[in-house]
Amino acid sequence: MHPNAYSPAEWEKIVAFSATKETPFLLVSLDRVRQKFQAFRTHFPNAKIYYAVKANPGKEVLALLRDLGSCFDIASVYELDQMLDLGVTPDRLSFGNTIKKARHVREAYDKGIRLFASDSEADVRHLAKEAPGSRIFFRLLMDAVTSDSDWPLSRKFGCQPRMLTELVSLAADLGLEPYGISFHVGSQQREIPAWDAAIAQVRDLYDQIESAGIYMKAMNMGGGFPADYLVKSNPLSVYAEEINRYLDLHFGDSVPAIYLEPGRGLVGEAGVLVSEVVSIAKKSKTDLKRWVYTDVGIFNGLMETVDESIKYPAYTEKTGETGDVILAGPTCDSLDIMYEHYKYQLPLSLEIGDRIFWLSTGAYTASYSAIEFNGFPPLKTYYL
Ligand SMILES: *Cc1c(COP(=O)(O)O)cnc(C)c1O
Repeated sequence: MHPNAYSPAEWEKIVAFSATKETPFLLVSLDRVRQKFQAFRTHFPNAKIYYAVKANPGKEVLALLRDLGSCFDIASVYELDQMLDLGVTPDRLSFGNTIKKARHVREAYDKGIRLFASDSEADVRHLAKEAPGSRIFFRLLMDAVTSDSDWPLSRKFGCQPRMLTELVSLAADLGLEPYGISFHVGSQQREIPAWDAAIAQVRDLYDQIESAGIYMKAMNMGGGFPADYLVKSNPLSVYAEEINRYLDLHFGDSVPAIYLEPGRGLVGEAGVLVSEVVSIAKKSKTDLKRWVYTDVGIFNGLMETVDESIKYPAYTEKTGETGDVILAGPTCDSLDIMYEHYKYQLPLSLEIGDRIFWLSTGAYTASYSAIEFNGFPPLKTYYL
């Protein structure tokens, strides 16, 4: 494996910077975040971009995106406070989590939030009471397509079309402003036709809802844009071209205002997680596989390796003949194994103390890191 997404000069900088620091840590390239944000803008010129804060809530990342004019999708009142502290005004924020306490709805409303997502009657009623008159995205259940994605958000969010149209009417009756339908095709969605199916379904629903006299102004297509891992994905330009074609196909010249909420697709490729080999072992003299234990694992950054869902490229500077390894983390927990079934190969010359660089780790690593499980500190982040 080779960190081929980096130029030799860029890579040298990463190695040199890393050499002076105690591992593990995440190294985020703000240049890469900036380039990706601009790519989203270029390829979706008419869309509003709401960065999904949970993917990487590092202050520097948020401040950069703030300065570039991004809007933000927040999941809690805590992320709300974080954004307000950074000077982002509430009109640039959307409360996209459908699961929230009534008093947090009120708190968000009091702090100026007027755009929410919802997918249940109970939540619509809370919103009507605690956030009167707000704009609402109704989240559509996407169980048919999320199963194709590598990190499905599937059954937990959204509701069936029939229930959705009922919620729209209820919301309108209760004085809220039905603003549009939102969906999420599943995170790390490599199948572009997933968007086609979703957009077509939304179009049908808008026709139905309009016949009841309610006009939806927007559509929120969520995230799902992939990052390159071991399995490469198509570039953003290909996604955009196809998705824009689907929009044209299904909506023609009445395309609603488009909202995008990229998380992984915006910051994933901007991160390198730097770790050190703590130990190398075999379970018997004749064992063909080496167990390679690193100082990063499931609990301090590599949560998305659960079930080997996300396969990060793991790179070392050692070269030569390679052999099968099982990659595991440093804690006293047997869940803390990253890859056992998928055959990772590392050089036979790999030694304790060598560094392993995990590529494309900008999203859902630092933010998933446990606080002091087994006493290990949460993952540090540095910016290059
Ligand atoms: C997590 C999330 C996103 C970001 O998804 P990615 O697949 O990381 O792009 C967007 N919108 C909502 C509502 C989310 O919960």
